[in-house]
Amino acid sequence: MTLSSARGSVLAASAEGPRGRPILEIRDLVVDYGYGDDRAHALRGVNLTLHEGEVLGLAGESGCGKSTLVYAATRLLAPPGLISGGEVLYYPEQGQKPIDILRQPDEELRAARWQDTAIVFQGAMNSLNPVFRIGRQITDAIAAHRPEWSRAQRDDRARELLSMVGIAPDRVSSYPHQLSGGMRQRVMIAMALALEPRVLIMDEPTTALDVVMQRQIVEQIVELRDRMGFSVIFITHDVSLLIEVADRIAIMYAGEIVEHGPAHRMYREPRHPYTLGLLNSFPPLHGPRQELVGIPGSPPDLQALPTGCTFHPRCPFAMERCVTDVPVLGPTAIPGEAARRVACWLNEDESLLPAPLHQT
Ligand code: SF4
Repeated sequence: MTLSSARGSVLAASAEGPRGRPILEIRDLVVDYGYGDDRAHALRGVNLTLHEGEVLGLAGESGCGKSTLVYAATRLLAPPGLISGGEVLYYPEQGQKPIDILRQPDEELRAARWQDTAIVFQGAMNSLNPVFRIGRQITDAIAAHRPEWSRAQRDDRARELLSMVGIAPDRVSSYPHQLSGGMRQRVMIAMALALEPRVLIMDEPTTALDVVMQRQIVEQIVELRDRMGFSVIFITHDVSLLIEVADRIAIMYAGEIVEHGPAHRMYREPRHPYTLGLLNSFPPLHGPRQELVGIPGSPPDLQALPTGCTFHPRCPFAMERCVTDVPVLGPTAIPGEAARRVACWLNEDESLLPAPLHQT
């Protein structure tokens, strides 16, 4: 599939509403790092729903809480991270009751991991064991969850998985150092897909790769999603990459979601000044070269968040009320934006939106 056809399929799938029924629903998730007066509020009541067959992009600067969100939602959060509130509902097949992952017995959770939800971690390509061949590493992983499979079945599956991600099946006998960075990352994606999970979480899967390889991996993910029908949460700080791959995008800032909506609308018409800042920090996909404009200042200290809107010290459009009043994630005042949610006072009244945030 070419990039343009990948993008075409994304846009076709990105009608205002989501694709299918919910598969993962995060409700009021609160995570702190540390205890007492020293604790940092890493997530402050996050709500997010992933739908069947959807690619949901999660973007924001380092430290905004995007990785914490998925590690907490899958109960992989390491101490001193502490989940202090909320629920994470996983919806099994139609007709079955939702399961709250945060309260699921450990044994059930272990069995469900990888089978229902698989994760490609940050820098995963470096986690391949250098002294074992690729095929052995894939088949060991399969054996842990499918002990009843024969060796021949596992070997066949390893070859099938490699060719699924565009690697010649005979590479099962290669060692990791004999593969490029892009190929090693594809091996990790193949391993994550080994048990055909319904949800695939990808945490900065392309960060260590050059832009050409990034694009190839993004195309591959879209193609596999179209073929296999799984849902994806794709985390990155590069919002321009999400425009290529995601159906919907959620933007995080200081442990909260500040804007979410259909990917193509967010790209053309961002409604939150932080989203606009992120988009202006990366080169445009089309058109003439432009000077990149960064976001002034740095993300806030999570132990001492600014009053009112947490973005106000960096926001070029901040008003007096932004310093005292906390904006809540809600609909915009602009007609035809039913699927958009923004936490910014400018969106209460269409006439308040400055030109860069009002391009309809
Ligand atoms: Fe800027 Fe105010 Fe909107 Fe916050 S609420 S993003 S400070 S305009």
